[in-house]
Amino acid sequence: MTPRQPRAVRPAPAGRAPRVHRRPPAPRGSRGPRPPDAIIKRLQVALEADLDDPTTDGRPGHRWRAALLTATGALLLWARRGVVQVLPAARNVADPDARRAWESGVTAAVNKSVRRARARGVSQAVLAALAAGVVAAHVLREHARLVQAIARAAGSDSYIWITRKDTKVRHLHVLLEGTTQRWDDPPLAGEPDFFGHPGDAAECRCNAWPIAT
Ligand SMILES: [Zn+2]
Repeated sequence: MTPRQPRAVRPAPAGRAPRVHRRPPAPRGSRGPRPPDAIIKRLQVALEADLDDPTTDGRPGHRWRAALLTATGALLLWARRGVVQVLPAARNVADPDARRAWESGVTAAVNKSVRRARARGVSQAVLAALAAGVVAAHVLREHARLVQAIARAAGSDSYIWITRKDTKVRHLHVLLEGTTQRWDDPPLAGEPDFFGHPGDAAECRCNAWPIAT
C-alpha cells in the first residue's frame, strides 16, 4: 500500500484576493488573527496564583475560572470578528456547545496535569511551570477546534492554512502556509503519516482562516 501523499495544494490567490480570502481584521491589542499569546499568558498567571494560594487547596480556583471566562469571551469575540466577516451565517451560531467544550476541555487538561505532577511530588514552582505549558498547548489546540466548530457549523467546507511565519514553524507547516485545505480532508501535518488541521499536531501554533462556500 502506498502511503498517502499530501494533496496538490492551491496557492493563495495573488494580488487582490476575493473578499472571502481577505485577512480578517485583528482584534484590538493583538498582533493578528492567531491564538492570542496574551490570553494564554493571562491564563497561566491566574493558574499559578491559584496553585500558590493555600486557600484554593493547590487547585485551579476562582482566579483560573475568572481568567477562563475572560479568555472564552475574547476568543469568541475574535472568532466573531474574524470568522463572521467571512461567514455571515456564523452570526447565528451562538455556539454554546463549542464554547462549553472549549472551557471544559482546557480545565480538564489542566486539572489532569496538576494531579499528575503533584503525584510525582514535584515542587510548587515546577508544578506551575508544567501546568503553564499544558495551558498553552491546550489553549492553542482548543482554540483551533473552536474556530473549526464555528466555521463548519456555518457551512464552511475549507480554510486557508496560516502559520506564525517565524523560524519555529515546522517544515511541513511552512509548506502548508497559504494553501487552501478542506475541513473533511486534513493534509499531512506530521511525519510520517499524521493528517490534521491547524492546531491538531502537538504544539502547533498555526491557525485556519475559514472560507465561506
Ligand atoms: Zn503548525
